Amino acid sequence: MTHTVTAAGDPLPALPGGAPYDVTVIGAGVVGTAIARELARYPLRTALVEASDDIGNGTSKANTAILHTGFDAVPGTLEARLVREGQRRLSAYAADTGIPVERVGALLVAWDAEQLAALPALLAKAEANGYRAARLLDADEVAEREPHLGPGALGGLEVPDESVICPWTTPLAFATQAVRAGVHLHLDCPVRDIEPGSTVHTLTTGRGPLRTRFLINAAGLYADEIDRRFGHDVFTVTPRRGQLIVFDKLARDLVRHILLPVPTSAGKGVLVAPTVFGNVLLGPTAEELDDKTATESTQEGIALLREKGRRILPRLLDEEVTAVYAGLRAATGQEDYRIQEYPGRRYIAVGGIRSTGLTASMAIADHVTGLLARTGLDPGTPAELEPLTMPGLGEAAERPYLNAELIARDPAYGTLVCHCERVTAGEIRDALAATLPPRSVAGLARRTRAGNGRCQGFHCGAGLRALIEGNGP
Ligand SMILES: Cc1cc2nc3c(=O)[nH]c(=O)nc-3n(C[C@H](O)[C@H](O)[C@H](O)COP(=O)(O)OP(=O)(O)OC[C@H]3O[C@@H](n4cnc5c(N)ncnc54)[C@H](O)[C@@H]3O)c2cc1C
Repeated sequence: MTHTVTAAGDPLPALPGGAPYDVTVIGAGVVGTAIARELARYPLRTALVEASDDIGNGTSKANTAILHTGFDAVPGTLEARLVREGQRRLSAYAADTGIPVERVGALLVAWDAEQLAALPALLAKAEANGYRAARLLDADEVAEREPHLGPGALGGLEVPDESVICPWTTPLAFATQAVRAGVHLHLDCPVRDIEPGSTVHTLTTGRGPLRTRFLINAAGLYADEIDRRFGHDVFTVTPRRGQLIVFDKLARDLVRHILLPVPTSAGKGVLVAPTVFGNVLLGPTAEELDDKTATESTQEGIALLREKGRRILPRLLDEEVTAVYAGLRAATGQEDYRIQEYPGRRYIAVGGIRSTGLTASMAIADHVTGLLARTGLDPGTPAELEPLTMPGLGEAAERPYLNAELIARDPAYGTLVCHCERVTAGEIRDALAATLPPRSVAGLARRTRAGNGRCQGFHCGAGLRALIEGNGP
């Protein structure tokens, strides 16, 4: 099958007989790509349209990358159910496709009497959410599990199944499988207006009109604006910024678990977490903003994180910082997702996917596909998708530069291009030739790690840029 991926400069393709798409998904974040992948199993003409030049380029590229168990979700909510189910689905999918995951477990550490008193209720909440492996720890057990913790920890709650995952490989895997199964991906294709119709909606995009029978709005921070095109005034997205600090890999041995804060009346606090790349994260902040583009890091935010981090893991603050970044959660003032089908309108809003969308993505996709039937679409009989193997970016698996057999077969895997992250010429060549090649140095970094190390591309950046430019259409 030919793959249809279009970008700036390409016309939007005309379908045979001038037919509209059956379903169009707006937004190629982790949620929209998961939905497109799920729809790809059905005999439908599906389009995935994305404003930017790459998939996973919005909130999905800047989170804390935890595959949650959902132990602390609000019991009974849609989010609680979809996070629980999403964790199960994504864990299995990651194992099948090679998306890096490490089951490091989480510890919620109580630092004062209020936090200690809150732990039994959190344990009960975990059980109400169907998670039964959590258990309370006393101060000695906490210290034994995390020897570098700051002084004064009074106790903790252990959640052994919390894991860390690669946030970039996940939407890339979804989108790759979707495109290979026939979904049309249109990048650089912002939806500017929508003319809802009784049988066909017409989308005005930055690259011309696009017609579709059914529409799924997975536009993340902009889902409220898309929703208003249908005359609704149901929710407003208020971006909640989370700033994070990435510490160098030399800090990795300081922490064994994801160290989660105990939420109290004073707020949610910050966490310390390892990444699948071998770094350590400190963050995020929680700042209510009104600018949906405010992804910058600030002096105050970083100072706050350092102050909180010093209490949790004092030695971490002596380590080198590799990078800082910030992501915006799509908060809507409701402690649940805003997923709503509109049967008469052939439209589904998938809004308010705030802090757990990476984990829940596959379950959201399954749920939304079920809702499509209620909006009047008969999707037909699902088929199995072609299996997929993603490049192994995680530190827990054997990286190509260490694989003597692979290097003997293909010496490009023995030639380092990014020395900090040990990324080889073979991996970069593969990324550039993939179904969804990168269109920027940042996109290449998300596919290979090249340039993400302690020199942040100082040594290899110009070479990587030349490779991207040479790979253009
Ligand atoms: C700091 C932080 C930490 C987090 N930590 C975790 C975590 O540890 N675990 C977890 O599971 N989740 C976490 N999350 C949440 C998770 O990252 C989000 O829930 C998820 O990324 C949302 O994905 P999305 O696809 O809905 O949105 P996005 O990734 O923002 O995708 C929406 C896409 O729609 C596109 N778009 C918007 N408007 C238009 C338009 N008009 N036309 C065309 N395209 C459009 C955008 O360009 C964007 O690519 C965290 C979030 C943040 C900010």
